[in-house]
Amino acid sequence: MQSTDIVVVGAGVIGLSVAYQLALRTSDRILVLEKGAGLGEGSTGASSAVCRFRYSRDEMVELAKDGIRAYRNWSDFLELTAPVARFHQTGVIWLGGGIGSSAEVARLQRLGVAATLLDDADVQDNFPALSPCTIPPDLLAGEPHECRSGERYILESEGGYIEPTDALQDLLTAVRNNGVEVQFGARVTGIETISDRVAGVTLADGSGYACGLVVNASGPWCNQLLAKVGLADRWPLRPTRIQMAQFDMPPHLPGSMPVCADLAGGIYFRTQGQRKHIIVGSVLPEDERETVDDPDEFDRSADDSFVRSKLHAVQHRMPSIGPLRGVRGYSGLYTMNWADVHPIVGETPLGGFFVANGCSGHGFKLAPAIGSLIAQAIAGSKHAFDTAVPRTFLSFDRRPIELAQQSVLA
Ligand SMILES: Cc1cc2nc3c(=O)[nH]c(=O)nc-3n(C[C@H](O)[C@H](O)[C@H](O)COP(=O)(O)OP(=O)(O)OC[C@H]3O[C@@H](n4cnc5c(N)ncnc54)[C@H](O)[C@@H]3O)c2cc1C
Repeated sequence: MQSTDIVVVGAGVIGLSVAYQLALRTSDRILVLEKGAGLGEGSTGASSAVCRFRYSRDEMVELAKDGIRAYRNWSDFLELTAPVARFHQTGVIWLGGGIGSSAEVARLQRLGVAATLLDDADVQDNFPALSPCTIPPDLLAGEPHECRSGERYILESEGGYIEPTDALQDLLTAVRNNGVEVQFGARVTGIETISDRVAGVTLADGSGYACGLVVNASGPWCNQLLAKVGLADRWPLRPTRIQMAQFDMPPHLPGSMPVCADLAGGIYFRTQGQRKHIIVGSVLPEDERETVDDPDEFDRSADDSFVRSKLHAVQHRMPSIGPLRGVRGYSGLYTMNWADVHPIVGETPLGGFFVANGCSGHGFKLAPAIGSLIAQAIAGSKHAFDTAVPRTFLSFDRRPIELAQQSVLA
């Protein structure tokens, strides 16, 4: 058996963020083992990577803020002069659902989020393609209705998105620049233990590494490793198929296009690929219920009925959009934490075994902060991009967090 100090299982956005933050503060040897042939084969590759701030729990707002600070300062954060990815600061607008109140904006501002309250005229001035209608659309047939607005809406002006596979590429460069070894085609199949402590990992090809610390960052596959060490029953973490729709961005749409969280239509959407496409996802709890037995085997397309209903919602939100071209659908996997839709991050009862699992629909924006939480737990010292949220908030031994809504909108 070869040896190293720390093994991180998985080179998704979480595993690479953990490895990067560790490498900044320890001289320990760090090895990332990734079963895929390349980057982006898990949740991160399919992610919409929307970076928004509003959550019902203040700690989540803080974690989102810390993550988004890293993405907004990507070159400084990764110490890369020419990163591939860049943060598209389009702003995030929240329409419908009755959440646009001065109290909610005041809460976000108190937490340091650049949030403002918009009225109908502001929406028209800033984002002329968007209708502020707050009546839920007919998702089945797309029948038009008489639109009504007159509510208030929240704009998070520092929100936006970053293309996820570009971000992974930059993270890979950054970890390698900092001495981390990353191996592809390396599937971890076993965790070795001695006296209630991690002692190493074994791989599918029969090889192995002795090590004192393992971080399980294997995304939707996390239960396979948790089961090896008897920890799979503590949290209900379920790989869950998440469908998306995509279409070509019509050239005639006026004005700038924010990320839109459309609570009346049950969707969110954003531009993609230098405004060539728009991608559309769901914010409805019923679209986060299709669990998958084997994360290696699931339907990566989207159902026609899903795509049709989401496009009806888009057409309602952008009445001038006209016929949609280049329509397609695809699916990826969330790892839903059915107890409270929040990630589980930190040490476990098995000495030296750490988890960053169950990220549900939040893992991309939180990844820099999750990397910071794990690195603080292992290596202690502080880094300029550290989060100040206590490690207990998402810890393995916490109780489920009480929430009004158990979905991506938690
Ligand atoms: C359609 C979709 C839209 C999303 N939209 C957003 C969004 O807008 N904003 C947001 O914040 N989040 C979003 N998310 C959630 C976010 O993308 C995920 O929470 C995040 O990508 C999880 O990253 P990860 O590194 O944990 O998992 P992954 O990206 O799945 O990485 C895990 C890696 O581990 C590897 N692996 C697994 N088992 C082993 C093993 N035994 N040995 C070696 N390697 C192994 C896998 O191959 C994989 O590469 C979205 C997710 C999806 C699917």
